[in-house]
Amino acid sequence: MPMVNSTLDILGRPLKSLRVSVTDRCNLRCQYCMPEDEYVWLPKSSILSFEEIDRLVRIFAGAGVTKIRLTGGEPLLRHDLERLVALLTGHSAIKDVALTTNGVLLARLSGALRKAGLGRITVSLDTLRADRYRKFTKATRLESVLEGIVAARDAGFEGLKMNSVIIRGFNDDEIVDLLEFAGQQGAELRYIEYMDVGGATDWSMEQVFSRDEILRVLSQRYGPVESLHDPRDASAPAQRYRLPDGRVFGIVASTTAPFCRSCDRARITADGMFFLCLYADRGIDLREPLRSGAPDEEIAAIVSSAWRARDDRGAEERAGVRSRGVLYQIEGLRADPHREMHTRGG
Ligand code: SAM
Ligand code: SF4
Ligand code: SF4
Repeated sequence: MPMVNSTLDILGRPLKSLRVSVTDRCNLRCQYCMPEDEYVWLPKSSILSFEEIDRLVRIFAGAGVTKIRLTGGEPLLRHDLERLVALLTGHSAIKDVALTTNGVLLARLSGALRKAGLGRITVSLDTLRADRYRKFTKATRLESVLEGIVAARDAGFEGLKMNSVIIRGFNDDEIVDLLEFAGQQGAELRYIEYMDVGGATDWSMEQVFSRDEILRVLSQRYGPVESLHDPRDASAPAQRYRLPDGRVFGIVASTTAPFCRSCDRARITADGMFFLCLYADRGIDLREPLRSGAPDEEIAAIVSSAWRARDDRGAEERAGVRSRGVLYQIEGLRADPHREMHTRGG
């Protein structure tokens, strides 16, 4: 297979990684993502089949993508997800197929996903306290998530990651406990700053527990924290750090220290909208050409010309907003569910 040159955007950023949302549905209702009682769902008939996703991935691979992350909504709600994984790992240009999940259904599915060739798993878990979990996710499935993490490790997934969004007044007193827990599970923890993405209708700057504050808590507990900044890995969203005892963790400081300048990530929603940025107001419809018989070359031309014209720096622009509030009110989200984080994938 010949080397594919990456398509570069206006700021010189290559198109390298693609987040594929396989469903907008979710079995949790996390306070920072889906706090409302009712949602407008994507019509079932608009959801891409595995074959359609596979075709898009082949086209994106031709434009330079080498890494795929399956997300959602909750990706494990999509039946037979392992069949999609097997299709995607069949592309020689795709070097890495990963999954971000809330872990609730992981215990049942991790063996099949491993067999299908899934490379890496990130489990999102923000609290270890059952009462908080219940209040925060409106579900009682903490035990299932814990079982899922163990099952994933037993199935042979190495390099497990755990994502924890830290919110002031909710779980900032679990910063140390989450790190200890992740370590016991053989997982690397990534703290995530609370972001004002679509869907976070209760967001406020006061609730953002910043990277600097997280580092302060950890250095008070463990001693000096060393930054592991690696210029070769500039596009990685998490900055990595090492504790004096050698343990490594990451922080995704999208709110207080955005990393748009090196962002190589594109997204497609479960209904085939192509987004150039997590904050982009509009996507580009790839489902229509997919379903109306357009050849691969035509869709590839849409993808690469959109990427070449990309100048998005959503998080950096948000960081410059004075008196920053929620990005979209609920009416704006209902008018277009593609603005929701659970639709475009985290
Ligand atoms: N349902 C899966 C999960 O929770 O892992 C995948 C989709 S979820 C949208 C992907 C990631 O986005 C999760 O790690 C979640 O914690 C994160 N996320 C959602 N809303 C967020 C917000 N307002 N700020 C920061 N991270 C957020
Ligand atoms: Fe929570 Fe993920 Fe579901 Fe959003 S999509 S409500 S973050 S589990
Ligand atoms: Fe990339 Fe947009 Fe996120 Fe910035 S805000 S890192 S450009 S997806």
